[in-house]
Amino acid sequence: CGIVGYVGYRDALDVVVDALRRMEYRGYDSAGVAIVDGSGALAVERKAGRLANLEAELDQTGRAAYAGATGMGHTRWATHGAPTDRNAHPHRDVTGKVAVVHNGIIENFAPLRKELEDAGVELNSDTDTEVTVHLVARAYAEGPTAGDFVASALSVLRRLEGAFTLVFAHADHPDRIVAARRSTPLVVGVGQGEMFVASDVTAFIEHTREAVELGQDQVVVITADGYTVTDFDGDADVVTKPFTIDWD
Ligand code: GLU
Repeated sequence: CGIVGYVGYRDALDVVVDALRRMEYRGYDSAGVAIVDGSGALAVERKAGRLANLEAELDQTGRAAYAGATGMGHTRWATHGAPTDRNAHPHRDVTGKVAVVHNGIIENFAPLRKELEDAGVELNSDTDTEVTVHLVARAYAEGPTAGDFVASALSVLRRLEGAFTLVFAHADHPDRIVAARRSTPLVVGVGQGEMFVASDVTAFIEHTREAVELGQDQVVVITADGYTVTDFDGDADVVTKPFTIDWD
């Protein structure tokens, strides 16, 4: 299982698929990507099996359909829901505007799922993950965090139990990616005009050697030009570990 998120100037699909290939050694049963194209569209492809299966699917559709400089990728090691195409990440909300990838386990997904179903939301997978993307979309649609992508994500993160690295993208906010961690790894890669988030540095080592390790229960918002780290309450008074990768 591996996660990568990218905001920059390159073709995000290339960066993300490359990163997934470099993280293949971690083991996985499915893979997927989501690319935000800058005009409010989100393109998602996901596939059970080898990364080669995903790439074949991307080629068949035509890679031009996944143009954009913001994106995320995922290799899945299924814990909840069989390793099928529909359970593969990224997952999307009902509007198709919000996407999530997740490593770990959302322990309290059952009550959250029930809450969504009671509200009439149709879920499309058997994963523990999918609830998070619907909750973010709903927090964004109405209530105190309406229209604020980052605040919406924070409000959902505060409700989650378990171990998770989560990455969220929103088609209406193509300039940013929101990522968070609790008890699973998340590293920021700091480039020149491009930023990365990933499960490990192998994902971005060919692009930058400047990295920042996030602490427990931290959230990072990356844009092409920088990053900000807070806790789940949005408080920026947190300690992170910047480091330079010095191995080959
Ligand atoms: N629990 C999630 C799932 O089964 C994520 C698994 C992972 O860490 O890859 O889909």
